[in-house]
Amino acid sequence: MAYRAGMSVAPHGLHHVTAIASDPQRNVDFYTAVLGLRLVKTTVNFDNPSTYHLYYGDEAGRPSTLLTFFPWPSVPPGRQGTGLTTATAFGVPPTSLGWWQRRLTDRGIDVDPPRDRDAGDAAEEVLTFRDPDGLVIDLVAASGDARSGWDGHAGVPGEHAVRGLHAVALTERLLEPTAGLLTGLLGMDLSGESGTGARFTTAGDTPAGTVDVVADPARNRGLQAGGTVHHVAFRAPDGETQARWRTELVEAGLAVTEILDRRYFTSIYFREPGGVLFEIATDQPGFAVDEPLLELGRTLKLPPWLEPDRETIEAALPPLCRP
Ligand code: ZN
Repeated sequence: MAYRAGMSVAPHGLHHVTAIASDPQRNVDFYTAVLGLRLVKTTVNFDNPSTYHLYYGDEAGRPSTLLTFFPWPSVPPGRQGTGLTTATAFGVPPTSLGWWQRRLTDRGIDVDPPRDRDAGDAAEEVLTFRDPDGLVIDLVAASGDARSGWDGHAGVPGEHAVRGLHAVALTERLLEPTAGLLTGLLGMDLSGESGTGARFTTAGDTPAGTVDVVADPARNRGLQAGGTVHHVAFRAPDGETQARWRTELVEAGLAVTEILDRRYFTSIYFREPGGVLFEIATDQPGFAVDEPLLELGRTLKLPPWLEPDRETIEAALPPLCRP
C-alpha cells in the first residue's frame, strides 16, 4: 500500500515504548536500581486493571524518556521475529559506554563490548544487553542530547545517566510498506539505507527521533509475549494535532482507534503494515496530573473511573516494593 506524502503534522519523535515483563518486582529493581531510571508512575493497565502498568523515565517522566511495562507474572517468554519491535535504544553521553559496560558486568548482566554499527549516514557506538525478561536494550553513545536524565540516583551519576529513548528497531518481512508509512504519514525522512534495512529520522535535533527498519523476509513471525515490545508511541504536542493526525491516518485507509483517555496523555492506536502496533500520544497533561513531582510512582494511582474499584484492584495485584 502506498501512502500519499504531504501530511500536515510535523513529527516530534518517540513518546514512549511499552513492553511486556513477567515479575513486576524484578522489573522495578532492574530499571530503577540498575539502569537508574525513575519509576514515574505506578498504575494499572486501564484495559485490564488486574495488571500493573509501570512507567519509567526521567525526573518528570517527560515524553521521549519513557519506557513502560505491563508485567504479567505468568506470561511465557516471547520470540523475536518479524512484525515486532526488536530493539529499544536509549541515549547515553558519548563517553559513558565503558562506564555502563562495567556497571552491567558488575551486576552479572551479560553485555557485549561496545561496537560500532552503521547508522545511516554515519556510524554509532552501541552497547547491547537484555533485561531480566530478555527484552533487547541498546545504549547508544549520543552526542548533542540536551536531556539530563534522572540525576544521581541508584549510584548512577548525572554525567552517565540515561538521557531517554534514542531509537527503536522494527523487524519486518518487507521494508517498503513500513517505509511508506513512516515517510508518508509519520513525516519521517529516510536518512540511510543498508543491505537489509533503512533508518528513518525526524528533522532537526528531535530527541528519540529515529526508527530503524530491518527487513528479513526469511525470518519467522515474532511472538509477542514476555520480553518483547507491545507497542511504540509517537508524540503529538497537543490534542488538536492528534485529532488532525488521526483524520489523515483514517483518510489513508488505516484502522485507527478513537481518541482514548490514558489519564497522563490521550492516545490513538493503529497497526503499521508490517504488524507493529503504533500509538500517537499527547505530551499533555503528563505525570504530575494526579500526584506531586516529588512523589511520582510511590503509590498506586488509578484513573477516576477505576477509583471506585480500588479495593478489589489492589487485592488482585502482587505486592510491590518501590524505591
Ligand atoms: Zn502506550
